Amino acid sequence: MYFVCLTFDFDAYSPWIYRKMHDYSNLSRGEFADVGVKRIIDLLKKESIPATFFIPGHTAEHFQETVSLIIDEGHEIANHGYMHEPPNELKSREEEFIIIKKGIETIQRLFNVRTVGYRSPSWNLSKNTIEILENLGFIYDSSLMSNDYLPYRPPKYIIIDNEGRVNKGPKSNIIELPVSWSLDDYPHFEYVRYPNFIQQGLRSVSEVFENWSLDFEYLVRNLKEGIFVITMHPEVIGRGHRMILLQKLINFIKFHEKRKETEFSSMIDVVNHYRDKLL
Ligand SMILES: [Zn+2]
Repeated sequence: MYFVCLTFDFDAYSPWIYRKMHDYSNLSRGEFADVGVKRIIDLLKKESIPATFFIPGHTAEHFQETVSLIIDEGHEIANHGYMHEPPNELKSREEEFIIIKKGIETIQRLFNVRTVGYRSPSWNLSKNTIEILENLGFIYDSSLMSNDYLPYRPPKYIIIDNEGRVNKGPKSNIIELPVSWSLDDYPHFEYVRYPNFIQQGLRSVSEVFENWSLDFEYLVRNLKEGIFVITMHPEVIGRGHRMILLQKLINFIKFHEKRKETEFSSMIDVVNHYRDKLL
């Protein structure tokens, strides 16, 4: 079976606040995520597709009605830190533990949902992250890139010694659903003026459709089974022309000759499928 996971990181205000770029205009860009989520929910409903939304605790607090709507529509919600803190930028293991736990507790308090999946903000894990996820009872992570189409169990840590030798810990209990920058809408599309550089983005949807559809094509032509994880952001994919890209991609997959072997799925459903197979 080929599993297609449409995943959405509902970042809203949080990355702008974390990066101290929270002027009025950038906050309005964050607010557009709320408009985008509603368009996405409508499309997913029309197409009967389940999806996964990674939600920072801060977004859960500030967009409660929208998060309730996501849950009511039957989509999975998962952990994305509290204020979109990349783990590798945090000072200590303890700080990282507290932040991820705060993300869990915020969602649990507001929506009575215990999140079991984690995606690190900016896909920057620290050497402690995987063990922290294990300790906090997470089942899966979706931030790493050691494979593309196949889930795996990542090592508990990777440490580089003074000579540059790579030391890997034992396999963890976490299941990794790998990601890729090429299958993420943000670098392709979003124009951002950071203090020290400009992220150009603003590529045409036809270029990105070509890349994404060919990645799916390669999977179904060359592997007997696998997963196809796309990472999107409501404030990015939610723009008109990009929503049409998403519709076009869904149609491409739904009408593909391999459609009978293909299933749109939430991340947790994929994990449940692979759980006993990945020892
Ligand atoms: Zn994010």
